[in-house]
Amino acid sequence: VKVATLSIGDELTHGEIVDTNAVHIAGRLYRDGLKLQRHLTVGDNELDIVEALELLADKADAVIATGGLGPTVDDITARAAARLTGRRLMLNDEALAHLKRFMGVQDGPLLVLNEKQALLPTKCTVVPNPTGTACGFMVIHNGRFLFFLPGVPSEMKRMLDETVLPFLLERRRSHRFVGTRVLKTFGLAEAELDDLLKGMATPEISVGFCVSFPEIMVKLRAEGESGEHLDWLLANAAAAVQEKLKGHVYGEEDDTIDTVVAGLFRETGQTLSLAESCTGGMIAARITSQPGSSAWFREGMVTYSNEAKSRLLGVPPDLIASHGAVSSEVARAMAKGALQSSGGDIALAVTGIAGPDGGTPEKPVGTVYIALASRAGCHAKGYRFSGGRDEVRVLTAFTAMDWLRRHLQSRSSAPPAGGTAQVS
Ligand code: ATP
Ligand code: MG
Repeated sequence: VKVATLSIGDELTHGEIVDTNAVHIAGRLYRDGLKLQRHLTVGDNELDIVEALELLADKADAVIATGGLGPTVDDITARAAARLTGRRLMLNDEALAHLKRFMGVQDGPLLVLNEKQALLPTKCTVVPNPTGTACGFMVIHNGRFLFFLPGVPSEMKRMLDETVLPFLLERRRSHRFVGTRVLKTFGLAEAELDDLLKGMATPEISVGFCVSFPEIMVKLRAEGESGEHLDWLLANAAAAVQEKLKGHVYGEEDDTIDTVVAGLFRETGQTLSLAESCTGGMIAARITSQPGSSAWFREGMVTYSNEAKSRLLGVPPDLIASHGAVSSEVARAMAKGALQSSGGDIALAVTGIAGPDGGTPEKPVGTVYIALASRAGCHAKGYRFSGGRDEVRVLTAFTAMDWLRRHLQSRSSAPPAGGTAQVS
């Protein structure tokens, strides 16, 4: 079933409100495997509405229009629908009864203004509105189903779910099942992902990417004959992606790096301390955003100055003088110092140049060192992140979380592989 959507309202064409109805309907259609073919927006103008409906109904099997069903003069959708289909507007008994029930009037007269909401094209089917006064309706025009729903998002959503979608799904020619699975990745660029996953798509599985800085979602979508077939297709595809992307997939669906890391700490019983410089506590904030984190998070120090790095973490001033505060050596010393003073299992340290000032030719803005110390040893790695101050800080904090994930997952202290350009 090919579906088109039409949003009606001057508020939309004047740019006063965001067309959330169109987004919502598109998402629901997609989820149910119905094909959204095209979408139009028009103002509260009868001729524009008629023309838009004509255009959309020409190619689609069904059109879902929202807006303009209310009682005010600018609500002219019903009139446009009548004009398009060559019908008259008539007081619809069902819609009138609903209106009276909704307004708490039993027999008496309604305000003319309100009664207008029950004026619908002849030979239409009423789409019940459980939460509002204006009923929706459906007319068949040249074999196409034209649905008209109110613009109010909450009303529209229920009517879509309870009447329109069930109607369309029933009429779907072949019953195909559609499902999606989202894998969350960090550390590879979109082009790298694309390259690694080349050839994964099949007629039954499509692969898409969705960038949400600093991570990238890999979206798998499958169409199958049955629910089980679908699950099988998606499970196989997800396993294939995991294998191709090695450790770069950190979670699925609603996972975030923070929830995944929290889960690993909970599982392993390890404890953490942090020594942060350029992130100023962002890593600690991510760790403590998770309920229960007091069980694994011991402490975090924001050692921004050289003096604090020495006084609180025992980093030798000589080391800072000879290598610079932003160096692999100092990052290691920070992590070791934090491990020692806290007595925990893992200590992670970051030091970097977030910019916009402070860069040098050898260590430009975006140069960041991360170190992780545990009883098994200490290792550090340099990164050169691109972007402004905000991006560098977010990337550093996210990368640090990813180090924790990888460390806890492997329970070894090998540095995480691949990813962003290495400095040393
Ligand atoms: P009412 O009975 O409230 O008049 P209606 O069917 O006439 O409903 P509109 O008057 O077009 O609908 O819109 C009612 C309200 O719903 C608008 O003020 C707006 O806030 C919201 N709305 C309308 N269309 C959309 C849309 N496409 N996306 C998001 N919100 C919308
Ligand atoms: Mg209105």
